[in-house]
Amino acid sequence: MWSADEIARICFECFSELPKRGKPEPGREWTLLAAVVKVSESQSPDQPERNRIEKEVVSLGTGTKCIGKSAMSPHGDVLNDSHAEVIARRGFVRYLTEQLRRAVVGESSSVFRPGDERGKWRLKDGVSFLFFTSHTPCGDASIIPMTDSQSQPCLPVRTEEHTDETNNRPVEKHRGRTLKRQMEREGEEGAACKHLRLAIEEEEGQASLVSETLPEDNPTSPKNEVADPDGRGRRSVEELTRDIHRTGAKCVPGAPTDPHLAGPGYHTVGVLRVKPGRGDPTLSLSCSDKMARWTALGCQGALLSHYLQEAIYFSAVITGKCPYNLPAMQRALTNRCLQVTELPAGFTIRPPLLLQSSLEFAHSHAQTECSHQDGQGRISPCGAAISWCAVPNQPLDVTANGYKHGVTKKALGTEKSRSFICKAELFRCFLDLLAVTADSQLPQSLRRKDLKTYLDYKQAAESYQQAWKQLLIQAFSLWPRSPRHLLLFH
Ligand SMILES: [Zn+2]
Repeated sequence: MWSADEIARICFECFSELPKRGKPEPGREWTLLAAVVKVSESQSPDQPERNRIEKEVVSLGTGTKCIGKSAMSPHGDVLNDSHAEVIARRGFVRYLTEQLRRAVVGESSSVFRPGDERGKWRLKDGVSFLFFTSHTPCGDASIIPMTDSQSQPCLPVRTEEHTDETNNRPVEKHRGRTLKRQMEREGEEGAACKHLRLAIEEEEGQASLVSETLPEDNPTSPKNEVADPDGRGRRSVEELTRDIHRTGAKCVPGAPTDPHLAGPGYHTVGVLRVKPGRGDPTLSLSCSDKMARWTALGCQGALLSHYLQEAIYFSAVITGKCPYNLPAMQRALTNRCLQVTELPAGFTIRPPLLLQSSLEFAHSHAQTECSHQDGQGRISPCGAAISWCAVPNQPLDVTANGYKHGVTKKALGTEKSRSFICKAELFRCFLDLLAVTADSQLPQSLRRKDLKTYLDYKQAAESYQQAWKQLLIQAFSLWPRSPRHLLLFH
Protein backbone atom coordinates (compact mmCIF):
# COMPACT_ATOMS: atom_id res chain seq x y z
CA MET A 1 0.00 0.00 0.00
CA TRP A 2 1.15 3.54 -0.61
CA SER A 3 -0.35 6.98 -0.20
CA ALA A 4 0.05 10.14 -2.26
CA ASP A 5 1.89 11.79 0.64
CA GLU A 6 4.29 8.90 0.96
CA ILE A 7 5.18 9.09 -2.73
CA ALA A 8 5.65 12.88 -2.52
CA ARG A 9 7.85 12.46 0.54
CA ILE A 10 10.24 9.96 -1.05
CA CYS A 11 10.55 12.18 -4.14
CA PHE A 12 11.37 15.24 -2.02
CA GLU A 13 13.87 13.18 -0.01
CA CYS A 14 15.53 11.96 -3.18
CA PHE A 15 15.87 15.58 -4.31
CA SER A 16 17.31 16.71 -0.97
CA GLU A 17 20.02 14.04 -1.16
CA LEU A 18 21.32 15.35 -4.47
CA PRO A 19 24.32 17.71 -4.50
CA LYS A 20 23.75 21.45 -4.62
CA ARG A 21 24.72 21.98 -8.25
CA GLY A 22 21.73 23.09 -10.31
CA LYS A 23 19.44 23.51 -7.31
CA PRO A 24 17.56 26.79 -6.82
CA GLU A 25 18.89 29.40 -4.42
CA PRO A 26 16.52 29.21 -1.43
CA GLY A 27 14.21 32.22 -1.09
CA ARG A 28 15.09 33.62 -4.52
CA GLU A 29 14.79 30.91 -7.16
CA TRP A 30 12.02 28.39 -7.61
CA THR A 31 11.78 25.27 -9.68
CA LEU A 32 9.49 22.37 -10.50
CA LEU A 33 10.14 18.73 -9.68
CA ALA A 34 8.88 15.51 -11.22
CA ALA A 35 9.86 11.89 -10.66
CA VAL A 36 9.13 8.30 -11.56
CA VAL A 37 8.67 5.87 -8.68
CA LYS A 38 8.96 2.13 -9.11
CA VAL A 39 6.57 0.08 -7.00
CA SER A 40 7.40 -3.59 -6.53
CA GLU A 41 4.89 -5.84 -4.91
CA SER A 42 6.02 -9.20 -3.66
CA GLN A 43 4.91 -11.77 -1.14
CA SER A 44 6.61 -11.49 2.18
CA PRO A 45 8.49 -14.75 2.91
CA ASP A 46 7.46 -14.72 6.60
CA GLN A 47 3.84 -13.84 6.02
CA PRO A 48 2.84 -15.20 2.61
CA GLU A 49 -0.65 -13.78 2.98
CA ARG A 50 0.73 -10.24 3.21
CA ASN A 51 2.18 -8.40 0.24
CA ARG A 52 5.38 -6.51 0.69
CA ILE A 53 5.55 -3.28 -1.30
CA GLU A 54 8.79 -1.49 -2.06
CA LYS A 55 8.89 2.03 -3.45
CA GLU A 56 11.94 3.46 -5.12
CA VAL A 57 12.56 6.70 -7.03
CA VAL A 58 14.17 5.62 -10.31
CA SER A 59 14.20 8.97 -12.13
CA LEU A 60 13.92 12.56 -10.97
CA GLY A 61 13.90 15.82 -12.89
CA THR A 62 13.76 19.52 -12.14
CA GLY A 63 13.46 22.41 -14.56
CA THR A 64 11.23 25.18 -15.87
CA LYS A 65 12.67 26.18 -19.24
CA CYS A 66 12.13 25.36 -22.87
CA ILE A 67 14.34 26.49 -25.75
CA GLY A 68 12.99 28.27 -28.81
CA LYS A 69 12.75 26.92 -32.34
CA SER A 70 15.94 28.62 -33.51
CA ALA A 71 18.07 27.00 -30.78
CA MET A 72 17.08 23.44 -31.76
CA SER A 73 19.91 21.30 -33.10
CA PRO A 74 19.96 18.91 -36.08
CA HIS A 75 22.43 16.73 -34.16
CA GLY A 76 20.05 15.78 -31.35
CA ASP A 77 22.55 17.13 -28.85
CA VAL A 78 20.38 19.80 -27.17
CA LEU A 79 17.59 19.29 -24.67
CA ASN A 80 14.72 21.20 -26.24
CA ASP A 81 12.28 20.88 -23.39
CA SER A 82 13.55 21.07 -19.83
CA HIS A 83 10.26 21.14 -17.94
CA ALA A 84 10.58 18.81 -14.94
CA GLU A 85 8.06 16.26 -16.27
CA VAL A 86 9.94 15.91 -19.53
CA ILE A 87 13.33 15.65 -17.79
CA ALA A 88 11.93 12.97 -15.45
CA ARG A 89 10.57 10.96 -18.37
CA ARG A 90 13.82 11.15 -20.33
CA GLY A 91 15.77 10.00 -17.26
CA PHE A 92 13.28 7.16 -16.95
CA VAL A 93 13.99 6.11 -20.56
CA ARG A 94 17.70 6.09 -19.69
CA TYR A 95 16.94 3.89 -16.67
CA LEU A 96 14.77 1.51 -18.72
CA THR A 97 17.48 1.20 -21.37
CA GLU A 98 19.96 0.16 -18.68
CA GLN A 99 17.46 -2.35 -17.25
CA LEU A 100 16.92 -3.80 -20.74
CA ARG A 101 20.69 -4.05 -21.25
CA ARG A 102 20.95 -6.05 -18.04
CA ALA A 103 18.13 -8.33 -19.08
CA VAL A 104 19.62 -8.86 -22.55
CA VAL A 105 23.12 -9.76 -21.31
CA GLY A 106 21.77 -12.01 -18.57
CA GLU A 107 22.54 -9.78 -15.58
CA SER A 108 19.63 -9.53 -13.22
CA SER A 109 17.09 -6.83 -14.03
CA SER A 110 14.63 -5.83 -11.34
CA VAL A 111 12.19 -4.65 -14.01
CA PHE A 112 12.03 -7.00 -17.00
CA ARG A 113 11.31 -10.65 -17.70
CA PRO A 114 11.24 -12.35 -21.10
CA GLY A 115 8.08 -11.81 -23.15
CA ASP A 116 6.35 -14.31 -25.42
CA GLU A 117 7.84 -13.10 -28.70
CA ARG A 118 11.50 -13.43 -29.60
CA GLY A 119 13.59 -10.50 -28.37
CA LYS A 120 10.70 -8.90 -26.52
CA TRP A 121 10.53 -8.16 -22.80
CA ARG A 122 7.77 -7.31 -20.40
CA LEU A 123 7.48 -5.94 -16.87
CA LYS A 124 7.95 -8.44 -14.07
CA ASP A 125 4.81 -9.36 -12.16
CA GLY A 126 4.14 -6.88 -9.36
CA VAL A 127 6.26 -4.09 -10.91
CA SER A 128 4.57 -0.80 -11.80
CA PHE A 129 5.59 2.84 -12.15
CA LEU A 130 4.03 6.00 -10.72
CA PHE A 131 4.61 9.53 -11.91
CA PHE A 132 4.98 12.32 -9.40
CA THR A 133 4.90 16.02 -10.22
CA SER A 134 5.24 18.81 -7.67
CA HIS A 135 2.77 20.97 -9.63
CA THR A 136 -0.12 20.76 -12.06
CA PRO A 137 1.33 20.17 -15.57
CA CYS A 138 1.42 23.26 -17.79
CA GLY A 139 -1.14 23.61 -20.58
CA ASP A 140 -4.70 22.35 -20.42
CA ALA A 141 -4.57 20.85 -16.89
CA SER A 142 -3.51 24.27 -15.54
CA ILE A 143 -6.69 26.01 -16.72
CA ILE A 144 -8.60 25.63 -13.49
CA PRO A 145 -11.12 27.55 -11.44
CA MET A 146 -9.55 29.77 -8.86
CA THR A 147 -10.89 28.98 -5.46
CA ASP A 148 -8.60 30.72 -3.06
CA SER A 149 -6.18 33.59 -2.58
CA GLN A 150 -2.55 33.54 -3.55
CA SER A 151 -1.31 33.26 0.01
CA GLN A 152 -3.17 29.99 0.25
CA PRO A 153 -3.15 28.77 -3.33
CA CYS A 154 -4.40 25.26 -2.67
CA LEU A 155 -7.48 23.74 -1.28
CA PRO A 156 -6.49 21.76 1.76
CA VAL A 157 -6.23 18.16 0.73
CA ARG A 158 -7.03 15.37 3.05
CA THR A 159 -5.49 12.16 1.86
CA GLU A 160 -7.41 9.66 3.88
CA GLU A 161 -5.76 6.48 2.92
CA HIS A 162 -7.74 3.37 2.42
CA THR A 163 -7.33 0.42 0.18
CA ASP A 164 -9.47 -0.22 -2.81
CA GLU A 165 -10.32 -3.88 -2.43
CA THR A 166 -10.18 -4.58 -6.13
CA ASN A 167 -6.78 -3.17 -6.99
CA ASN A 168 -5.14 -2.91 -3.60
CA ARG A 169 -4.38 0.74 -4.14
CA PRO A 170 -4.96 3.56 -1.74
CA VAL A 171 -7.53 6.01 -2.98
CA GLU A 172 -8.68 9.37 -1.73
CA LYS A 173 -12.17 9.49 -0.41
CA HIS A 174 -14.69 12.09 -1.46
CA ARG A 175 -12.27 14.49 -3.10
CA GLY A 176 -13.59 13.99 -6.62
CA ARG A 177 -17.17 14.46 -5.50
CA THR A 178 -16.37 17.62 -3.57
CA LEU A 179 -14.55 19.13 -6.51
CA LYS A 180 -17.35 18.20 -8.84
CA ARG A 181 -19.89 20.00 -6.69
CA GLN A 182 -17.61 22.99 -6.53
CA MET A 183 -17.12 23.01 -10.30
CA GLU A 184 -20.86 22.85 -10.83
CA ARG A 185 -21.37 25.86 -8.63
CA GLU A 186 -18.62 27.69 -10.43
CA GLY A 187 -20.23 26.91 -13.75
CA GLU A 188 -23.54 28.35 -12.60
CA GLU A 189 -22.20 31.46 -10.97
CA GLY A 190 -19.11 32.22 -13.03
CA ALA A 191 -20.52 34.91 -15.29
CA ALA A 192 -21.66 37.10 -12.41
CA CYS A 193 -18.33 37.19 -10.70
CA LYS A 194 -15.83 39.88 -10.10
CA HIS A 195 -12.34 39.14 -11.29
CA LEU A 196 -8.87 39.51 -10.02
CA ARG A 197 -6.16 40.79 -12.19
CA LEU A 198 -3.79 38.07 -13.21
CA ALA A 199 -0.16 38.14 -14.05
CA ILE A 200 1.03 35.34 -16.23
CA GLU A 201 4.57 34.15 -16.25
CA GLU A 202 4.62 33.83 -20.00
CA GLU A 203 8.06 32.40 -20.15
CA GLU A 204 7.52 29.53 -17.80
CA GLY A 205 4.03 28.47 -18.72
CA GLN A 206 3.07 28.31 -15.09
CA ALA A 207 -0.09 30.01 -13.98
CA SER A 208 0.37 32.51 -11.21
CA LEU A 209 -2.00 34.87 -9.56
CA VAL A 210 -1.49 38.42 -8.39
CA SER A 211 -4.39 39.63 -6.33
CA GLU A 212 -5.27 43.27 -6.62
CA THR A 213 -8.58 43.59 -4.82
CA LEU A 214 -9.99 40.72 -2.95
CA PRO A 215 -13.77 40.64 -2.77
CA GLU A 216 -13.53 40.89 1.02
CA ASP A 217 -11.99 44.35 0.64
CA ASN A 218 -15.09 45.63 -1.07
CA PRO A 219 -17.79 46.50 1.47
CA THR A 220 -20.48 46.66 -1.23
CA SER A 221 -19.72 43.20 -2.48
CA PRO A 222 -22.79 41.02 -1.91
CA LYS A 223 -22.22 38.24 0.56
CA ASN A 224 -23.82 35.50 -1.37
CA GLU A 225 -22.57 32.70 0.78
CA VAL A 226 -22.43 28.98 0.17
CA ALA A 227 -21.44 26.16 2.41
CA ASP A 228 -17.73 25.53 2.26
CA PRO A 229 -17.11 21.96 1.21
CA ASP A 230 -13.79 21.92 3.01
CA GLY A 231 -15.29 22.76 6.37
CA ARG A 232 -13.38 26.01 6.84
CA GLY A 233 -16.40 28.18 7.47
CA ARG A 234 -18.56 29.87 4.87
CA ARG A 235 -17.17 31.56 1.81
CA SER A 236 -18.85 33.81 -0.69
CA VAL A 237 -19.68 32.63 -4.18
CA GLU A 238 -17.43 35.40 -5.50
CA GLU A 239 -14.57 33.98 -3.57
CA LEU A 240 -15.11 30.58 -5.10
CA THR A 241 -15.72 31.65 -8.65
CA ARG A 242 -13.95 34.89 -9.43
CA ASP A 243 -11.48 33.66 -12.02
CA ILE A 244 -9.43 30.84 -13.43
CA HIS A 245 -5.76 30.06 -13.23
CA ARG A 246 -4.24 30.56 -16.63
CA THR A 247 -1.48 28.92 -18.59
CA GLY A 248 1.20 30.68 -20.62
CA ALA A 249 1.11 27.87 -23.20
CA LYS A 250 -0.42 28.97 -26.54
CA CYS A 251 -2.95 27.05 -28.64
CA VAL A 252 -1.30 25.17 -31.53
CA PRO A 253 -1.81 26.54 -35.05
CA GLY A 254 -5.20 25.54 -36.42
CA ALA A 255 -6.82 25.06 -33.00
CA PRO A 256 -9.52 27.42 -31.70
CA THR A 257 -7.67 30.36 -30.18
CA ASP A 258 -8.16 31.64 -26.64
CA PRO A 259 -10.98 34.25 -26.49
CA HIS A 260 -9.05 36.17 -23.78
CA LEU A 261 -12.30 37.26 -22.14
CA ALA A 262 -12.20 38.36 -18.53
CA GLY A 263 -12.41 35.63 -15.92
CA PRO A 264 -13.46 32.08 -16.76
CA GLY A 265 -13.84 32.92 -20.47
CA TYR A 266 -10.14 33.64 -20.95
CA HIS A 267 -9.10 30.27 -22.33
CA THR A 268 -10.39 27.59 -24.67
CA VAL A 269 -10.13 24.26 -22.87
CA GLY A 270 -9.17 20.85 -24.19
CA VAL A 271 -6.86 22.05 -26.98
CA LEU A 272 -3.21 21.26 -27.70
CA ARG A 273 -0.80 23.98 -26.64
CA VAL A 274 2.87 24.79 -27.17
CA LYS A 275 5.14 25.98 -24.42
CA PRO A 276 6.07 29.63 -24.35
CA GLY A 277 9.72 30.56 -24.83
CA ARG A 278 11.66 33.71 -24.27
CA GLY A 279 10.86 35.68 -27.43
CA ASP A 280 11.47 32.82 -29.81
CA PRO A 281 8.44 30.49 -30.03
CA THR A 282 9.03 26.85 -29.10
CA LEU A 283 7.88 23.68 -30.87
CA SER A 284 7.44 21.81 -27.59
CA LEU A 285 3.95 20.71 -26.65
CA SER A 286 2.72 21.51 -23.14
CA CYS A 287 3.28 18.92 -20.41
CA SER A 288 -0.49 18.26 -20.29
CA ASP A 289 -0.36 17.22 -23.95
CA LYS A 290 2.78 15.12 -23.63
CA MET A 291 1.33 13.33 -20.61
CA ALA A 292 -1.94 12.69 -22.48
CA ARG A 293 0.15 11.04 -25.18
CA TRP A 294 1.73 8.73 -22.55
CA THR A 295 -1.79 7.59 -21.63
CA ALA A 296 -2.11 6.04 -25.10
CA LEU A 297 1.45 5.28 -26.26
CA GLY A 298 3.17 4.65 -22.93
CA CYS A 299 6.18 6.56 -21.73
CA GLN A 300 8.98 4.37 -23.16
CA GLY A 301 9.17 6.14 -26.54
CA ALA A 302 9.52 4.63 -30.01
CA LEU A 303 13.04 3.22 -29.67
CA LEU A 304 12.51 1.06 -26.59
CA SER A 305 9.20 -0.22 -27.90
CA HIS A 306 11.29 -2.40 -30.30
CA TYR A 307 12.23 -4.43 -27.22
CA LEU A 308 8.94 -4.36 -25.37
CA GLN A 309 5.94 -6.58 -25.75
CA GLU A 310 3.71 -4.00 -24.14
CA ALA A 311 3.98 -0.24 -23.74
CA ILE A 312 4.81 0.98 -20.22
CA TYR A 313 2.07 3.11 -18.66
CA PHE A 314 2.19 5.06 -15.42
CA SER A 315 -0.38 3.54 -13.12
CA ALA A 316 -0.87 6.82 -11.24
CA VAL A 317 -0.04 10.51 -11.57
CA ILE A 318 0.40 12.14 -8.17
CA THR A 319 0.57 15.91 -7.89
CA GLY A 320 2.07 17.82 -4.97
CA LYS A 321 0.29 20.60 -3.11
CA CYS A 322 -0.42 23.44 -5.55
CA PRO A 323 -3.42 24.85 -7.44
CA TYR A 324 -5.03 21.63 -8.61
CA ASN A 325 -8.32 20.53 -10.02
CA LEU A 326 -9.22 16.90 -10.60
CA PRO A 327 -11.73 17.47 -13.45
CA ALA A 328 -9.14 19.60 -15.29
CA MET A 329 -6.52 16.87 -14.85
CA GLN A 330 -8.96 14.28 -16.19
CA ARG A 331 -9.89 16.50 -19.11
CA ALA A 332 -6.26 17.18 -20.03
CA LEU A 333 -4.55 13.86 -19.34
CA THR A 334 -7.12 11.19 -20.05
CA ASN A 335 -10.47 12.28 -21.49
CA ARG A 336 -8.98 13.56 -24.73
CA CYS A 337 -7.86 10.09 -25.77
CA LEU A 338 -10.46 7.85 -24.12
CA GLN A 339 -12.33 7.35 -27.41
CA VAL A 340 -9.26 6.20 -29.36
CA THR A 341 -9.65 2.68 -30.75
CA GLU A 342 -7.85 0.37 -33.18
CA LEU A 343 -4.58 0.51 -31.30
CA PRO A 344 -2.20 -2.34 -32.22
CA ALA A 345 -1.37 -5.18 -29.84
CA GLY A 346 0.67 -3.99 -26.85
CA PHE A 347 -1.07 -0.61 -26.69
CA THR A 348 -4.22 0.39 -24.90
CA ILE A 349 -5.70 3.55 -23.42
CA ARG A 350 -4.58 3.32 -19.82
CA PRO A 351 -5.77 6.32 -17.77
CA PRO A 352 -3.65 6.72 -14.66
CA LEU A 353 -5.14 7.05 -11.21
CA LEU A 354 -5.02 10.78 -10.42
CA LEU A 355 -4.22 11.80 -6.86
CA GLN A 356 -2.99 14.83 -5.02
CA SER A 357 -0.66 14.95 -2.05
CA SER A 358 -0.95 17.51 0.74
CA LEU A 359 2.82 18.01 0.74
CA GLU A 360 4.35 20.97 -1.04
CA PHE A 361 7.77 21.12 -2.69
CA ALA A 362 10.09 23.32 -0.62
CA HIS A 363 11.29 25.13 -3.77
CA SER A 364 7.88 25.78 -5.32
CA HIS A 365 7.03 29.29 -6.49
CA ALA A 366 4.70 29.79 -3.51
CA GLN A 367 7.20 28.51 -0.92
CA THR A 368 9.96 30.65 -2.42
CA GLU A 369 7.73 33.72 -2.09
CA CYS A 370 7.10 32.83 1.55
CA SER A 371 10.78 32.56 2.40
CA HIS A 372 11.98 35.46 0.24
CA GLN A 373 13.75 38.22 2.13
CA ASP A 374 14.43 41.84 1.28
CA GLY A 375 17.71 42.32 -0.49
CA GLN A 376 17.68 38.86 -2.05
CA GLY A 377 16.82 40.18 -5.48
CA ARG A 378 13.88 39.40 -7.68
CA ILE A 379 12.28 35.97 -7.40
CA SER A 380 12.95 34.02 -10.58
CA PRO A 381 12.77 30.51 -11.97
CA CYS A 382 15.96 28.49 -11.59
CA GLY A 383 17.73 28.34 -14.96
CA ALA A 384 19.26 24.91 -14.48
CA ALA A 385 17.63 21.52 -14.92
CA ILE A 386 18.66 18.46 -12.92
CA SER A 387 18.23 14.90 -14.07
CA TRP A 388 19.05 11.97 -11.83
CA CYS A 389 18.22 8.36 -12.54
CA ALA A 390 19.04 4.99 -11.01
CA VAL A 391 21.84 3.94 -13.36
CA PRO A 392 25.33 2.89 -12.18
CA ASN A 393 27.40 5.31 -14.26
CA GLN A 394 27.02 9.08 -13.91
CA PRO A 395 23.44 9.14 -12.75
CA LEU A 396 23.44 12.93 -12.33
CA ASP A 397 23.10 15.33 -15.25
CA VAL A 398 22.81 19.07 -14.71
CA THR A 399 22.03 21.26 -17.71
CA ALA A 400 21.26 24.87 -18.58
CA ASN A 401 19.86 26.06 -21.91
CA GLY A 402 19.79 22.45 -23.10
CA TYR A 403 23.52 21.78 -22.61
CA LYS A 404 25.63 20.55 -19.70
CA HIS A 405 25.72 23.15 -16.98
CA GLY A 406 28.92 25.18 -16.93
CA VAL A 407 30.35 24.24 -20.33
CA THR A 408 32.32 26.98 -21.99
CA LYS A 409 31.04 28.52 -25.19
CA LYS A 410 33.97 26.93 -26.99
CA ALA A 411 32.90 23.45 -25.90
CA LEU A 412 29.30 23.86 -27.12
CA GLY A 413 28.47 21.24 -29.73
CA THR A 414 31.18 18.81 -28.57
CA GLU A 415 30.32 15.49 -26.93
CA LYS A 416 31.42 16.88 -23.57
CA SER A 417 28.65 19.46 -23.67
CA ARG A 418 25.82 16.96 -24.21
CA SER A 419 23.28 16.02 -21.64
CA PHE A 420 23.01 12.26 -20.99
CA ILE A 421 19.32 12.50 -21.75
CA CYS A 422 19.41 14.43 -25.03
CA LYS A 423 18.14 12.58 -28.12
CA ALA A 424 21.64 11.76 -29.39
CA GLU A 425 22.75 10.25 -26.07
CA LEU A 426 19.58 8.20 -25.54
CA PHE A 427 20.00 6.97 -29.13
CA ARG A 428 23.62 6.04 -28.39
CA CYS A 429 22.47 4.04 -25.32
CA PHE A 430 19.90 2.33 -27.51
CA LEU A 431 22.56 1.43 -30.10
CA ASP A 432 24.76 0.06 -27.27
CA LEU A 433 21.83 -2.13 -26.24
CA LEU A 434 21.46 -3.28 -29.82
CA ALA A 435 25.20 -4.07 -30.00
CA VAL A 436 25.05 -6.40 -26.97
CA THR A 437 21.92 -8.20 -28.21
CA ALA A 438 22.76 -11.60 -29.69
CA ASP A 439 21.53 -12.04 -33.29
CA SER A 440 19.21 -14.83 -32.20
CA GLN A 441 17.63 -12.49 -29.65
CA LEU A 442 17.10 -9.51 -31.96
CA PRO A 443 13.49 -8.33 -32.10
CA GLN A 444 11.98 -8.81 -35.55
CA SER A 445 11.66 -5.07 -36.18
CA LEU A 446 15.43 -4.61 -35.76
CA ARG A 447 16.51 -7.34 -38.18
CA ARG A 448 16.53 -4.95 -41.12
CA LYS A 449 19.98 -3.87 -42.20
CA ASP A 450 18.99 -0.53 -43.70
CA LEU A 451 18.42 1.37 -40.47
CA LYS A 452 20.84 4.21 -39.96
CA THR A 453 19.47 7.43 -38.56
CA TYR A 454 17.57 8.18 -35.37
CA LEU A 455 14.47 8.72 -37.51
CA ASP A 456 14.98 5.33 -39.27
CA TYR A 457 15.04 3.48 -35.94
CA LYS A 458 12.02 5.37 -34.66
CA GLN A 459 9.99 4.73 -37.79
CA ALA A 460 10.92 1.04 -37.81
CA ALA A 461 9.06 0.63 -34.50
CA GLU A 462 5.95 -0.29 -36.46
CA SER A 463 3.46 -0.95 -33.66
CA TYR A 464 4.42 2.24 -31.91
CA GLN A 465 4.06 4.23 -35.14
CA GLN A 466 0.68 2.63 -35.82
CA ALA A 467 -0.54 3.54 -32.33
CA TRP A 468 0.77 7.09 -32.77
CA LYS A 469 -1.01 7.35 -36.11
CA GLN A 470 -4.34 6.31 -34.55
CA LEU A 471 -3.86 8.79 -31.73
CA LEU A 472 -3.12 11.56 -34.23
CA ILE A 473 -6.12 10.76 -36.41
CA GLN A 474 -8.61 10.21 -33.61
CA ALA A 475 -7.55 12.68 -30.93
CA PHE A 476 -4.68 15.02 -31.77
CA SER A 477 -4.87 15.86 -35.46
CA LEU A 478 -3.28 19.27 -34.88
CA TRP A 479 -0.23 17.92 -33.06
CA PRO A 480 2.75 19.74 -34.67
CA ARG A 481 5.33 17.28 -36.03
CA SER A 482 9.05 17.63 -35.40
CA PRO A 483 10.85 18.89 -38.50
CA ARG A 484 12.44 15.86 -40.19
CA HIS A 485 15.82 17.47 -40.65
CA LEU A 486 16.21 17.54 -36.84
CA LEU A 487 15.91 13.74 -36.63
CA LEU A 488 18.39 12.59 -39.27
CA PHE A 489 21.50 12.31 -37.08
CA HIS A 490 23.21 8.99 -36.51
ZN1 LIG B 1 5.37 21.93 -18.35
